Amino acid sequence: MLEPLKTLREIFQDAADLKAAKDLLELIVERVQQSMTADVCSIYLLEPESSELALVATRGLDQVSVGQVTLRVGEGLVGYIAQHQSLLNVDNASEHPSFKYFPETREERYSAFLGVPIISFRKLIGVITVQKEDASYFSDEQEAFVITIAAQLAGPLSQWVHAEDVKTFLAQPDVPIQSNLKFQGVKGATGMAIGRVRWMHSAYELASVPDRLALDSGYELEKFNRALNLAKEELHNSGRRMEGTLPKDVLALFSVYKMILEDRELSSETEQFIREGWSAATALRKTVEAHARIFAKMDDPYLQAKADDIRHIGNRVYANMQGDDGGDGLQVNEPTILVGKDISITDIAQFPPKFLAGIVCSSGSSLSHIAILANALGIPAVMGGGGINPSQIDHAEAVIDGYRAVVVFNPVPNLRKEYRRLARQEAKFIKGLDELRELPAETPDGFRIKLYANTGLVADISPGLLRGAEGVGLYRSEIPFMLHESFPSEDEQVHIYRKILEAYAPNPVHMRTLDIGGDKNLPYFSFSEENPFLGWRGIRFTLDNTSIFLSQIRAMLRASEGLDNLKILLPMVSHLDELKAFHGLLEEAVSQLRSAGIKVQRPPVGAMIEVPSAMVMLRDIAKLVDFVSIGSNDFTQYILAVDRNNPKVSDLYNWLNPAVIRSIGHVVQSAQKYNLPVSLCGEMAADPAAVILLLGMGVEMLSLSAYNLPKTKLVIRTMTHERAAELWTKVKRKSDEHRIRRLLESELDRVGLGGLIRAGAA
Ligand code: PEP
Ligand code: MG
Repeated sequence: MLEPLKTLREIFQDAADLKAAKDLLELIVERVQQSMTADVCSIYLLEPESSELALVATRGLDQVSVGQVTLRVGEGLVGYIAQHQSLLNVDNASEHPSFKYFPETREERYSAFLGVPIISFRKLIGVITVQKEDASYFSDEQEAFVITIAAQLAGPLSQWVHAEDVKTFLAQPDVPIQSNLKFQGVKGATGMAIGRVRWMHSAYELASVPDRLALDSGYELEKFNRALNLAKEELHNSGRRMEGTLPKDVLALFSVYKMILEDRELSSETEQFIREGWSAATALRKTVEAHARIFAKMDDPYLQAKADDIRHIGNRVYANMQGDDGGDGLQVNEPTILVGKDISITDIAQFPPKFLAGIVCSSGSSLSHIAILANALGIPAVMGGGGINPSQIDHAEAVIDGYRAVVVFNPVPNLRKEYRRLARQEAKFIKGLDELRELPAETPDGFRIKLYANTGLVADISPGLLRGAEGVGLYRSEIPFMLHESFPSEDEQVHIYRKILEAYAPNPVHMRTLDIGGDKNLPYFSFSEENPFLGWRGIRFTLDNTSIFLSQIRAMLRASEGLDNLKILLPMVSHLDELKAFHGLLEEAVSQLRSAGIKVQRPPVGAMIEVPSAMVMLRDIAKLVDFVSIGSNDFTQYILAVDRNNPKVSDLYNWLNPAVIRSIGHVVQSAQKYNLPVSLCGEMAADPAAVILLLGMGVEMLSLSAYNLPKTKLVIRTMTHERAAELWTKVKRKSDEHRIRRLLESELDRVGLGGLIRAGAA
């Protein structure tokens, strides 16, 4: 029986030791040929430049033909497969009308031929073929085998050969496999950097400790406790080291590890195993594994992450038992990009901040602790996106582009040069933008826009103010909730909210009520759903948890006492009833507080426009709220039905898609008609091309991450409102999102803002 997945697993395992692409391709053809007991297996790869298919590896055909035989798409059987992008299974190849004979292959001996296209994300990468001497068709099982192999190899192959023309690629056996290896993730933190990769081992070494008994339990107990205390000390020192660099609420992340280390169960269970006769390492493994397993099985990504935290801590304690002092983390003297599966905050703490250039974490999302930390440190970060093979990239040079959530390992010289230029340009650009801080966000023909900051951390207060934010357009209240170990009390919330309101008073702060669900879950209130983005999210969740909601509303009202710059924003509104129910709760909170003698004002209330039903119902919504704010991140996701965090469909996630911009135009126009102030608070407001359109539509308030504020202000101060309106009229008739971007970017170029195109591609 053929077992394609087993063959693939073996290929991937053995590939880890290879140095050159050529070896890898040879490995693939050898394993496929052996598994199928075919006489020949060959791979042809498409050279993007010449659109020719080159024979790059074969087992069975003459080796001299490798690199020599090339076919145009449509030429020969391989070209036929490429052209039709479908498989071909023939018993006698030479009788097929497209057959073409290449003498150097000496393939005249073979009759049967099976070829399958290798396609990744609709792009042809190449063709894999098998041949045999006897003139009989390959079986269905054999067909299925090759199809599976081709499908599974398409992704890695497309990366390995990315941007290299195949002949050059093969002509340089020393070119490591990872040359120009591209990794597409999701956004963690914006920015651009170049640095050397430091792979952070997450190999759970403790897991490989065998069951071993020990004679001297006393000695083992002492060994365990010494290692545990050392780990506590290290953690404490790491936290201290970051103190000057990180704000308090971000530092609180260290307490997650501290709590694990101080967990009585961890130490008492380990000690119990030791007393039963196990060695300290075995006892620790048994305890850590038991605890981690419970979390790992949970569907919720936050709780799964807890399993990683526990394992990470277990490894640290184990390393201390082995006399490992935490590795060579501090011996860094060049810009470093930390890469790993599950980088922890203590990993970050090991590095001198001045050398920490970027973070790439193959798990997690933009809401992971590590992304929050990267944002607070102002370091680009790319998250999610799946497997990275450490043997391919460790110590390689890499460029990280946090705007596009892309990392290129071992960039070819041209690309590296280009990124260096862009990074320099960006740094210069950002410096130049400082002087914009005091100037109003007003177009040359007098159209005034209010520019607000999006925040969530107390740490974000000063960047917003420093960059001239005229208020907070979106305060993501779920972020402090996510950083807590349990629901923050009403008093704790008052304390946090007051800080933001005070910092910006008398300017407005639009506080959004808890927006959890979807990809944002609370570690201490977890639930899993088949389809979380369409489930218990935002206002749906809070309305169903009245006491949590009421206490948050009360906290917001109390925090604004005497300041009166609070505006309440409701997330994920999709039904009118939700607004009516909220007003009931607000009335209740106001009257409770007033009867307790607290002088609170009823604040203006707004709805986020994030789902299509809210757009359609705007006329009715207008009767129930004082303002609306378009959440373009979710709006784009729900209009296009494209998960905003899924790298597989990230090409489809585009706020310049005509359906998205026409819908936004419709919301703005309707809001104007109903005299409803309208703002936009997604990252679209940080994309200079999109800002032209928003200006043209007449949006009067934009809210975006503080970091990007000056760039957007520069667009506003350069483009006239009249020209922007002209462009919007032109663009709304266009149906191709790429053309739309090109048109807007050429306008940016024309007015001298070409430098923003890159830096603003948030
Ligand atoms: C949005 O959806 O555009 C938005 C601003 O909210 P969040 O990104 O927090 O979902
Ligand atoms: Mg949203």
